[in-house]
Amino acid sequence: MTLHDTSIAVIGSGFGGLSTACYLADAGADVTVLEQNEQVGGRASTIQRDGFRFDMGPSWYLMPDVFERFFGHFDREPDDYYGLSRLDPHYRIFFKSDQAAASDGGVVTERPDASAGPATDAGEAPGFGSANGARYVDMLPDLDANVATFEAIESGAGDALRSYLDTSATHYDTAMEHFVYEDRPRLRDWVDLDVMRAAPIGLQLLGTMDDYVADYFESHKLRQIMQYTLVFLGGSPGNTPALYNMMSHVDFNMGVFYPEGADPSDEVRPLLNDPEGEISGLSAVVAGMTELGTDLGVDYELNAEVTEIISRREGFELELADGTRSDFDLVVSDADYAHTEQELLPEHARGYDADYWESRTYAPSAFLMYLGVEGDVDPLEHHTLVLPDEWDGHFDQIFEEPAWPDDPAYYVCVPSATDDSVAPEGHSNLFVLVPIAPGLDDDEDTRAEYREVVLDDLAANTGVDLRDRIVLEEQFSVADFADRYNSMQGTALGMAHTLRQTALFRPPHRSKELDGLYFTGSYTTPGIGVPMCLISGEHTADAVRDDH
Ligand SMILES: Cc1cc2nc3c(=O)[nH]c(=O)nc-3n(C[C@H](O)[C@H](O)[C@H](O)COP(=O)(O)OP(=O)(O)OC[C@H]3O[C@@H](n4cnc5c(N)ncnc54)[C@H](O)[C@@H]3O)c2cc1C
Repeated sequence: MTLHDTSIAVIGSGFGGLSTACYLADAGADVTVLEQNEQVGGRASTIQRDGFRFDMGPSWYLMPDVFERFFGHFDREPDDYYGLSRLDPHYRIFFKSDQAAASDGGVVTERPDASAGPATDAGEAPGFGSANGARYVDMLPDLDANVATFEAIESGAGDALRSYLDTSATHYDTAMEHFVYEDRPRLRDWVDLDVMRAAPIGLQLLGTMDDYVADYFESHKLRQIMQYTLVFLGGSPGNTPALYNMMSHVDFNMGVFYPEGADPSDEVRPLLNDPEGEISGLSAVVAGMTELGTDLGVDYELNAEVTEIISRREGFELELADGTRSDFDLVVSDADYAHTEQELLPEHARGYDADYWESRTYAPSAFLMYLGVEGDVDPLEHHTLVLPDEWDGHFDQIFEEPAWPDDPAYYVCVPSATDDSVAPEGHSNLFVLVPIAPGLDDDEDTRAEYREVVLDDLAANTGVDLRDRIVLEEQFSVADFADRYNSMQGTALGMAHTLRQTALFRPPHRSKELDGLYFTGSYTTPGIGVPMCLISGEHTADAVRDDH
């Protein structure tokens, strides 16, 4: 069935909205994307100032297969819009517990976290290194090297890594085929032969990631390496189902990439807030998807905040903040689900009440500092993690007893480590991201104090002291997520992937109350993350096509 002569509004231009718009336009619909902000991309917005260009949100390009599938649907490939380079190392980790003795010259000569049996000399393992008196461990785009590094940390862990990754590859293939690309919104959709065959895998994986990983590795450090990706899913090792061990297949086997070289058309550039030059980072993907949408006939309207969705006998009327009203046959919302339901719809048209939204487990918010810095920031890598030995305290301060983390685990992104175009000559471009509890009070004084905590911690644990050479600084935290994206409690990512908020337990693509209203993006299935939002666009468009 085609959607010719059907007008569809997509509220919000995050990856879910951009993706849905492409699929629907390709099916013949007349699609208009209404974005309240000054640029498309949603959480993948950019800041441009004084020669620096910061991606404000996503920075890890993972699961290249999903992007290929997306562009492939339209007989294109990612390469038509942007290039990809595989990062080497994939990422660098500074374990805080390794730094105390770093003044001895920094070369790791014994296993930092030995727990059983003899191991190879860690100083010779390919992933170990040191600089400025700080020790680090690299995860490389080379499985044998990573196996050697694991073995150096814990005897037997090299083989355990191989076995873990073999299993996680199987889980990835099974999950993608049966549970991710295939949308199964109702219980009865899970009762078919294929799912039953795959079910033993699913059932095994209903335990927590914490327990699952502990069966393979004793070392805290190795457990952290296998679990840091959970923060991408908005969860903790204690509340995320073991199914997500497949994320290790994603980073170790499939690789970590960086998009570069997007050169959008004159029509698309003003939509990106990016007047000149080639575009890199995840903004390059936003550029590519917007270019594709434009080719397919999608209209994009910026500064178009929807304030009300009014259901009519035939179709919908949307009211914008400037008072104008427009009619559409169908509406898809990529804005946060809770915002759409609670702020844009009248009570009788909501699928969920306020208690439902209050009682969800939300993914972390974040304390973000975008920094333009004089000079280089070696040895910080493009992706760098700084991890405390014991990170349960940080997760507790996110999910159990919300507070600013005393001993934070955090992420530093330095795109200028591999890309000259994001900073003026002689400067570095980086952002620091500390996951924090949604809903935390982030007033100016608290942020100022925490800024010092983070910069001190970074200097102490990586040897990189930024304090006297920051030439540009922007912060973004809980209140900004709520203001800029209408995000519930200022969550950075939406609803966490706990067991009770995974698959059919996430809010559906079809409104429960209004025919013709649909949802897409990270609140729906499959969930959080750029690749997942691309797929959610496909699911939503399928639902629209099936219904009309
Ligand atoms: C700091 C950060 C780092 C991340 N890192 C990664 C990463 O490395 N890799 C990865 O894969 N994922 C990452 N993610 C997650 C990923 O970015 C998100 O899951 C994804 O971008 C969300 O897309 P979405 O479709 O849900 O829409 P969103 O990006 O949430 O966009 C929704 C849009 O709706 C608009 N909107 C809201 N209300 C209205 C209204 N009333 N009228 C009009 N428009 C409205 C908003 O302005 C926004 O533009 C990160 C996210 C953040 C915040």
